[in-house]
Amino acid sequence: MTTLFISDLHLSAERPDITELFFDFLAREARAAEALYILGDFFEYWIGDDAVEQPEYRSVVAALRALTDAGIPVHVMHGNRDFLLGERFARASGCRLIPDPTRIDLYGTPTLLMHGDTLCTDDVDYLAFRRMVRDPAWQRAFLARPAAERNAMARGAREQSRVSTAGKPPEIMDVTREAVLEALRAQRVRHLIHGHTHRPAEHVFDLDGAPARRIVLGDWYRQGSVLRCDARAWRLDTLALPPARARSRPGRA
Ligand code: MN
Repeated sequence: MTTLFISDLHLSAERPDITELFFDFLAREARAAEALYILGDFFEYWIGDDAVEQPEYRSVVAALRALTDAGIPVHVMHGNRDFLLGERFARASGCRLIPDPTRIDLYGTPTLLMHGDTLCTDDVDYLAFRRMVRDPAWQRAFLARPAAERNAMARGAREQSRVSTAGKPPEIMDVTREAVLEALRAQRVRHLIHGHTHRPAEHVFDLDGAPARRIVLGDWYRQGSVLRCDARAWRLDTLALPPARARSRPGRA
């Protein structure tokens, strides 16, 4: 059996080819999996769980529901875009929301799962923004606004993020070595899987005298990205879009 990890799909009506690729992934590969983990930024943004009724999201929730109804557990972690995913989304989709970080036993290997944004400790502007939007009082006030207003605010925040990240040196927006080591030590693990940075890779490094491993999942902008784990091996693979429908569109974390 295989456990699958994905993140940073940034699903949006603006990228219907990626939504199709995801539906295909759910209908085929995920159906044969032991479990699916979605480690944040599943949606480009999420204005609150009343969005489950919007047409652009209804089909995604229904596709997840079909998978969970077939008995495949789906675990969803918040990202920096979709941190308002809540219980109503979980009930409608059959998914289970999991905290960031979450520690799991992956075929005998204790493994830490994170979205990855909290590891980018050099990006102090972003961490200040994160503290604000993760504050329950801020979230209550935001959710009390009309949907149209929340949509406009989410789009505005996305534009602002595009402008501010374009002006930052790329290393600021990557994880820091210290934050990674600290997270691993705190949870007493040597294996970490995360997304967010859109820099798919496998990093092997020293942690207090023994090897440790960090797998970074890729984004789903021009292709899909999946980590396939079973008892023998972990493989980070790319999922190609059907060539005729492949488009290029720049994107950011
Ligand atoms: Mn992210």
